Amino acid sequence: MGSALLTAGVDIGGTKLLAVAADGQGKVVAERRQPTAEGPDAVLAATAAVVADLLAAEPGIAAVGVGLPGLVDLEGAVHYAPNLPGFVGVDARGRLAATCAVPVVVDNDANVAALGEVLHGAGRGRKEVLVVTLGTGIGGGLIINGVVNRGGYGLAAEIGHFTVDRNGPVCACGARGHWEALASGSALGRRAREWAARGDAPGVLARAGGVVEAVTGHEELGQPFELARSLMARGRGFRRALRKRPARESLERALAIFENLGASAWADRARSELGRIGGRATSSTALTSTEGRVAALAAQGRTNREIADQLFMTVRTVEWNLSKVYRKLQVRSRTELSRAVDRA
Ligand SMILES: [Zn+2]
Repeated sequence: MGSALLTAGVDIGGTKLLAVAADGQGKVVAERRQPTAEGPDAVLAATAAVVADLLAAEPGIAAVGVGLPGLVDLEGAVHYAPNLPGFVGVDARGRLAATCAVPVVVDNDANVAALGEVLHGAGRGRKEVLVVTLGTGIGGGLIINGVVNRGGYGLAAEIGHFTVDRNGPVCACGARGHWEALASGSALGRRAREWAARGDAPGVLARAGGVVEAVTGHEELGQPFELARSLMARGRGFRRALRKRPARESLERALAIFENLGASAWADRARSELGRIGGRATSSTALTSTEGRVAALAAQGRTNREIADQLFMTVRTVEWNLSKVYRKLQVRSRTELSRAVDRA
């Protein structure tokens, strides 16, 4: 064989972490997979650990490439990641490089998928390729003249966020009727649950063990108990990232499944997680996230002064993150930001 040059590739997904070592022909020689952890610290630590594990097993690995579902700049910092709670403003490449003995690059997962298809897959030998990635969300990777095209703002191929139906459901990015909100794995799961609840999808319901809440757009998450546990982990991650609405949605789905399965200890845990974000008692009152946060802090027995300090820090963090995005995208207002995203 001679000196076989190996590289490691890590796909940080919304639901799973997949890492492989491959040779120059794209042949996979080692593989590791596990559920995605909660929050950037845990996800990056898990990624560093899995890379260290691969390096120990395959000492010939010369470099590591990481793809994740978000807007990633050329330095490997994350600017937008609706399916990875807490990652906005995180210098993913810098933090992974600090723990790794070989060079690390980080890019948008669909960009690296497109590069992979051109080097080793369906796009081999082609110069112009568009790759559509279907998973928790919908991503796109565009190869023009043999290289990844990122466009002026790094959003060139974010085809999941093109408007398909102006009156359609709200997308993870906040806009209405995007392709991702209609046809991604999570969107299909949501629609299938609606059908199953109405009695219109008996076959689908049977495959999910008769539990409506266990109907999902992800084949590998078909087991109700495992699904509920991963939903709870996701919900907790969203709660820590102060994203109340998705936190509540995930935790309420987890709770419903645990109740259906009669897993009362787990149902109690889901209830207590819900209690920490205001839970069911407040879900119908449409609290804004700030009001909800105040309520949650007050429920923990914090003084008004402590609550004010916390909110001030939250606001400063949001301002700081937003200013970086604005600078990056060369926009000055939220309206311009929306336009830039729509144009891309
Ligand atoms: Zn969108």
